[in-house]
Amino acid sequence: MAVYSQSADNNISVSKPVYLPVEKTVLYKIGNKTVPIKIIQYGTVKDIVYINMHDNEDAAVEAAIEVLEVQGGTLIKVENNGQRVIRFKLGNITYGFDPNRIYARIGIQQTLRDNKRTSPQAIVEIEKFAQYLLSFIPDSTSCIVALHNNTEGLFSIKSYTPGGNRQRDAKAVYENPEKDIDDIALTTDSLLYQKMADAGFNSIWQDNERAKKDGSLSIYCGERNLRYINIETQHGKVAEYIEMLEKLLEILATENKKSPSQSEEDVTFRTNRALLRKNGYLLISKL
Ligand SMILES: [Zn+2]
Repeated sequence: MAVYSQSADNNISVSKPVYLPVEKTVLYKIGNKTVPIKIIQYGTVKDIVYINMHDNEDAAVEAAIEVLEVQGGTLIKVENNGQRVIRFKLGNITYGFDPNRIYARIGIQQTLRDNKRTSPQAIVEIEKFAQYLLSFIPDSTSCIVALHNNTEGLFSIKSYTPGGNRQRDAKAVYENPEKDIDDIALTTDSLLYQKMADAGFNSIWQDNERAKKDGSLSIYCGERNLRYINIETQHGKVAEYIEMLEKLLEILATENKKSPSQSEEDVTFRTNRALLRKNGYLLISKL
């Protein structure tokens, strides 16, 4: 069913109906620091969970929201004042950690060392934070989508091709010379790898047994046979990011013809949102 809405200035404008997000924020205390975690639900799709751990990676989140508004899903977002490293105090000592190195003890130890200080108590506190964060990913999740951006040239498809510092982490790599080397999809799943590569995106199939145990979410998922994909573009590249995400969702939808977004409840929800827009109750920024 197609629903059309008009823009506020009454120009005839056709737009896709979008979901109104339902947002909840939980506050997690680690040492002296309160870390807000946002759980944002779009529509009724609950088996595709997007997670943003690095609060300085805005383009990925911006792109994901545009896609979530149309396709539905859950977004988990760690708030950290726009910073990657989370810092907290225990006693008089300040510790720092990368929230994507905390899903195994070995990664926690390393990221604390990388940020200058470590202690058994800090390790335990971070471990608890990691468990808490993971508790928002339901067991029923069919695909975890990690939202990342990178800095030009530092981490790219070249990290995984022969001679790259992560070459042994990959079971298979596809590089499209026509694409920016910084724009990549890294997955625990052979099928997603193949389909993203077929679509012409730089793609990496993680070697779930041999890849370096660095405490990252991709390794955690790989060890547990969870379907995970990290979509990553250079900072600021929203359009390319959207293109990659849309391809991913197309792949997932083709696999699962009975898409949850086709449910009756869902269509009603979308319709109401469109009506709200039409009646001008919402401020519309993207029509
Ligand atoms: Zn990141």
